[in-house]
Amino acid sequence: MTRKSFLQRLLALPSAALLIGCARSQSDPVDVPDDIRVHPDIGAFGPLDKSLDAWRAIVSEDAFYILFEEGTEPRYSSPLLEEKRRGTYLCAACRLPLFTSVTKYDSGTGWPSFWAPIEGRLGTKRDTKLAIPRTEYHCTRCGGHQGHVFEDGPDPTGLRYCNNGLALSFVPEDESLPPLRT
Ligand SMILES: [Zn+2]
Repeated sequence: MTRKSFLQRLLALPSAALLIGCARSQSDPVDVPDDIRVHPDIGAFGPLDKSLDAWRAIVSEDAFYILFEEGTEPRYSSPLLEEKRRGTYLCAACRLPLFTSVTKYDSGTGWPSFWAPIEGRLGTKRDTKLAIPRTEYHCTRCGGHQGHVFEDGPDPTGLRYCNNGLALSFVPEDESLPPLRT
């Protein structure tokens, strides 16, 4: 499949248009319950200009490798694979909420998987490191690499956000979201 046709298919999906960042949908097709928070400080976030050395001092060595060197964790290594509680998945670097438990599912791949992100929280780019090009996605606030998105996901989007567990932190719905890192 060509890049163009892939992007056209992504853009044809209302819920997927948000991840591209160049299209707007009038209604959010992902029904997030009110008790699952998606941001502690809505409207107050923008691109975060922080040096790699500063991030290196904050996150673990393994997380830094994933987030800022576009690494990939070993399959079946993330405790988040077994996380079944309702709640919010934050970027492990800047703490921007990226996913909710509403869209998490068991893909059987060995990496935490979601069929949609929270609207506007991810950016994408083409990744040609492997023989078959992939679409990389990252936190739109800090640029931290999260994973790759594929077209073999479940309804309603048909997308699979294959995420590194080390790039996320989970906050169950009965706990307060931590403040965004600045
Ligand atoms: Zn981030």
